[in-house]
Amino acid sequence: MSALHSVVVTGASSGIGEAIVARLVAKGWTVFPMVRSEADAARLEGPRVHPLLADVRAPETLADAAVLVAERLEGRRLTGLVANAGVARPGPLIAQPLGAFRDQLEVNLIGVLASVQAFADLLGVDAAREGPPGRIVTMSSVAGSMALPFLGGYAASKFGLEGLSHSLRRELSAYGIAVSIVSPGAVDTPIWTKGEALAADDIGARPEALAGAMARFEAETLKSRAAALPAERVAAVVEHALVTPKPRARYAVVRNRLSDWWLPRRLPERLIDRIIARRLGLRAPRR
Ligand code: NAP
Repeated sequence: MSALHSVVVTGASSGIGEAIVARLVAKGWTVFPMVRSEADAARLEGPRVHPLLADVRAPETLADAAVLVAERLEGRRLTGLVANAGVARPGPLIAQPLGAFRDQLEVNLIGVLASVQAFADLLGVDAAREGPPGRIVTMSSVAGSMALPFLGGYAASKFGLEGLSHSLRRELSAYGIAVSIVSPGAVDTPIWTKGEALAADDIGARPEALAGAMARFEAETLKSRAAALPAERVAAVVEHALVTPKPRARYAVVRNRLSDWWLPRRLPERLIDRIIARRLGLRAPRR
């Protein structure tokens, strides 16, 4: 393997992951995109692009993938792991099937830890490898610090990912392995349509008192999709986090820093509750 830099990107079949792969390949990196289907692997394969078939919910598939990457690295360290794979399954918490809720934790939270464990040696936990320590980027979301209604499972997974990432960063500093959290706002990717397709199964019965608010929530989601950032914006930030001499602990990638990031984190919780309730028409019945 001749390229200077090497990276494993999970969730590389579409959206942000695919944009990261395209950007880093164009910069001369050796890229290991992780996908779940043979068709996606065949589509992405190319010079310096070595697809890995794995599911982040199945650690044994990650271990097999790590063996293939180790063979290519020939004793050198992996420059980066981008833990990007994720799913969003909207639904009201009181009615969402637990399997749909659990799946988001499995992929978005436990799947990240499983990926880190699988590639930790290659990133620098194994002292015998050559080269500078690698870096980890975890793909969180604005939903990792601001929980919307009807996205409770997603928010739970991303809030959990935030805690996981902070602990990882502090633990892995012992190896010189930097960990950065990337927190995008709305990004134009297929996650929206995949989420809708899954939601049809997930929502089941719409609780009557929530039906109107859910309809407004779906309409708002469509609107934010129209104003969503291109995936390439996130890919550029990920590249920066992987190469800059002093990577930050967090990168927020949002259209408007004040309204999309700063204010939601500083306004009182109850005020945010009222803003959301007014926007979605969430009201307790009069008695
Ligand atoms: P996407 O296009 O749907 O990409 C998600 C990727 O994750 C796909 O490659 C998907 O593979 C993969 N994946 C899903 N389940 C998996 C599993 N069990 N094992 C391995 N891979 C799995 O959506 P995206 O928007 O680019 O999402 C990428 C990340 O960005 C996610 O973590 C998401 O939460 C985060 N994010 C997205 C937005 C946004 O607005 N789009 C905003 C903030 C954060 P398949 O094609 O095989 O399903």
